[in-house]
Amino acid sequence: MSAGAPAHATVITVDGPAEAAVGAEFALTVVASCPAGCDLSGVPLEVTGPDNAGATVKLPSSPFPQGGGETPARRIALKAPLQPGEYVWRVSCAAHESAGWHHGAGQLRVPVRIRPHETSLAVWAIPSPVVTGRPFAIKVGAKSAAGCNLAGAQIEVCNPAGMVLASGVLGDTPWPGTSALYWTELSLIAPAEAGMFSWSVKFAPTDLALAHEGSSSRFSIVIVDPPEHRLTVKVVEQLTALPVADAQVRLGAYRAATGSSGFAELMAPKGAYDLHVWKSGYEAPKTTITIDADVAVEVVVAPLPEEDPDAEWLM
Ligand SMILES: [Zn+2]
Repeated sequence: MSAGAPAHATVITVDGPAEAAVGAEFALTVVASCPAGCDLSGVPLEVTGPDNAGATVKLPSSPFPQGGGETPARRIALKAPLQPGEYVWRVSCAAHESAGWHHGAGQLRVPVRIRPHETSLAVWAIPSPVVTGRPFAIKVGAKSAAGCNLAGAQIEVCNPAGMVLASGVLGDTPWPGTSALYWTELSLIAPAEAGMFSWSVKFAPTDLALAHEGSSSRFSIVIVDPPEHRLTVKVVEQLTALPVADAQVRLGAYRAATGSSGFAELMAPKGAYDLHVWKSGYEAPKTTITIDADVAVEVVVAPLPEEDPDAEWLM
């Protein structure tokens, strides 16, 4: 073919993710085509990474060797760099002869944003209630979306003003039953005043092998005045007046269960409370009670009709 002869173009198109996590595997699907419909099967393509390392792949045979509008596609597996940032891969095709025509070179830049791994936080084993001024502990865990080892990463508990109330590092082994929830126990001191407090756990990893996004999570904690008074609750059955064992008793944030003699005891600070009693198969009244000294109350519960098997689900 002489210089200046009509030539066809090589058009490269790429389908792939706009972003990928550090160190992750991802793929680009590359298509080279001739606008005139030539079959470009077997044409070599070069893929050059951000580190200038290249790989040459050949386009597979077209399922429609006569052209027909379809062009061969090639899936190219790649690995993301270990540092976050904006990176560019280049896909190029040298000038070539295909289907009896000269085809000019083609090139395409493929920008991919490489981002840190995401993380999530869990807070559990929060005691309730906690007495003013007393020490207590919570468990905090963090997980990488890619299941990375987060051992040694720092975690903090802050109040809404951003003051650090406790800090620690994640332990070496994941929480039992999880694959990668790295955790630690943090010791805290309850505020001096009773109330509901909303604190946050913050995770800002810096020294991990792969970059990770920080995360934060809120949790609430109920702080109460020291319990000064004893509440004794006796639960009896309406018709028989017999004691009811294993009934759950809840006074505000305080809980207890009745023993075989139908008695439950709990300590609570002064105040007005709703007293709830719950026992499967019984209907129990909700009562309001004021604690200003040691108090004893009797709660009468009525058996539910047995012909309603769903009764306990309807309470
Ligand atoms: Zn062509």
